[in-house]
Amino acid sequence: MFDPPILSRHDARICVAGGGGSGAALAYDLALRGFSVLLVEKGEFTSGTTGRHHGQLHSGARYAVGDRAIARECMEETLVLRRIAPQALEYNGGIFAAIRDDEADYAPAFISACLEAGIPAREIPVSEARVSEPALNPRTKRTVWVPDGTIDAFRLAASFLAAAAALGAELRAFTELVGIETGGGRIRGGTLRGPDGREERVSFDGLVSATGAWAGRVGSLAGLDIPVTPAPGTMVAVRGRLSDLVLSRLAPPGDGDILVPQRGLSVIGSTQRRADSPEGILPTKEEIEFLLSRGDELVPGFSSAPFHAAWAAARPLAGRADSDAEGRAISRDFAVLDHGDEGAAGMFTLIGGKATVLRAMARKAADEVCAFLGDPEPCRTAEYPLPSWRSLDGYLEGSGATGRGAGSRRPEGGAA
Ligand SMILES: Cc1cc2nc3c(=O)[nH]c(=O)nc-3n(C[C@H](O)[C@H](O)[C@H](O)COP(=O)(O)OP(=O)(O)OC[C@H]3O[C@@H](n4cnc5c(N)ncnc54)[C@H](O)[C@@H]3O)c2cc1C
Repeated sequence: MFDPPILSRHDARICVAGGGGSGAALAYDLALRGFSVLLVEKGEFTSGTTGRHHGQLHSGARYAVGDRAIARECMEETLVLRRIAPQALEYNGGIFAAIRDDEADYAPAFISACLEAGIPAREIPVSEARVSEPALNPRTKRTVWVPDGTIDAFRLAASFLAAAAALGAELRAFTELVGIETGGGRIRGGTLRGPDGREERVSFDGLVSATGAWAGRVGSLAGLDIPVTPAPGTMVAVRGRLSDLVLSRLAPPGDGDILVPQRGLSVIGSTQRRADSPEGILPTKEEIEFLLSRGDELVPGFSSAPFHAAWAAARPLAGRADSDAEGRAISRDFAVLDHGDEGAAGMFTLIGGKATVLRAMARKAADEVCAFLGDPEPCRTAEYPLPSWRSLDGYLEGSGATGRGAGSRRPEGGAA
């Protein structure tokens, strides 16, 4: 039974909008700090970007040359997640493979950046790499092992949701925040539209919009202009586990340079463009062809494996971009925006980041909520192993909450 101690109870009620990984981790963090939590999700839990991402547990190696701080955070959070959510991870490791000469030349800078970020990267002989990964391109020139892994996106989020529900958080799927009420410069409550279309006014003392690529729309409910850019990316899955480790190109981050094994599938991704809206995002034929050819470069024959699925999801980039190039220049870091000086004290927006660092994102947002309420409570989410994702449905049924759990059904086209 999952029963961590609540050190002190607070009267404040906090609404978390968004039932993806970030909202799930935040609902748990706030509940563990003793707050009354209401989480609302307009679709099924994880039906946004969370249920459609690539599924890489980032050691941070990918980011080490460009941004040591992000890389270090990924490594730290990887270790925490391995401790608290092993049921949602495959800790398989990863190999960065140099296939071209310029990629081989990148190895020394890559390894030293990883080591500076606390990531135990080490060069291994290509012959050794090909023993564990016989499908790896035989023309590979250098190989570097890193502690990457695979995340089950649904199970990780569902484990956090189950933990939140176990501590009394009210979780409502198919419930959209459609209105935000402010008064006297601070947040007062909001309007929810439930699965039956009926609207209900609710009061709360704080609101965190963890609505990812939808954060702009949710902000506009309070008259706020949120700097977020939906940046869709496509992934392609073929049947068969062509590698056991995560395979990446030994090069600065680019498109189609990561192959993630997910149980019986191999998933190549991704791409990046910008979009005006996170709704209705589909992969293009060109993206699929491009990704299949990039898969062939890492693992010859990738494109001949039985095609399983292609899908796309929108990154909630924390910044504004008017072009694809500007979108690429936006940091992959996350941000917690405090709307206190915009007439909505007590409202925060949590955007950007990665699924790997969802717990750290939640910690920062919850710290801001605590500071606003003047109720300092430490974050303790790294201390307790999470309950199984399997228990989510039980908690939801027990609480009479609306909707079903993230583990119960996958969104159409979602990642395996
Ligand atoms: C192509 C791609 C590949 C990626 N690969 C990886 C990877 O391999 N590893 C990794 O660590 N990260 C990866 N990421 C990043 C990761 O997917 C995201 O950082 C993460 O899923 C964002 O989670 P979130 O909870 O912030 O957003 P979401 O999962 O999008 O959750 C926001 C939720 O808010 C809901 N919502 C919107 N409006 C409202 C409203 N008014 N009321 C109630 N609910 C609302 C939406 O329905 C949605 O479910 C990838 C992202 C993309 C796009």
